[in-house]
Amino acid sequence: MSENCLFCKITKGEIPSYKVYEDEEVFAFRDINPQAPVHVLIIPKKHIGGLNIASEEDKRILGNIQIIASKIARQFTEMKNGFRLVNNCGADGGQTIFHIHYHLLGGRVFGWPPG
Ligand code: 5GP
Ligand code: ZN
Repeated sequence: MSENCLFCKITKGEIPSYKVYEDEEVFAFRDINPQAPVHVLIIPKKHIGGLNIASEEDKRILGNIQIIASKIARQFTEMKNGFRLVNNCGADGGQTIFHIHYHLLGGRVFGWPPG
């Protein structure tokens, strides 16, 4: 838990969220400002500031998040044809909340390259 971290507070239920998944180490909830018909944020409960400062000890939990994303996607018919999993890292990557999170987006067709 990092003091004054919005996402740490969400994992603890101190700030309400629309939860879609939880286990001992991972929490997933709907994004408040969805960029697609389905927009879920998947985060470790451990406070990690960003992918650029993740370490070897975070390898297992960050790997698990990919499998959890796949499981969540299978629960939504909107994602039966595919989805996008995104990590915005640092200022240039568009990161605005400095607790690592993965955007799981689905229900529309995404362009490439992203803007
Ligand atoms: P970033 O820009 O850091 O990759 O993504 C941060 C995401 O957090 C944004 O998509 C934003 O809409 C979402 N967000 C910011 N504040 C809240 C909040 O209080 N609740 C929820 N559910 N999502 C939030
Ligand atoms: Zn945090």
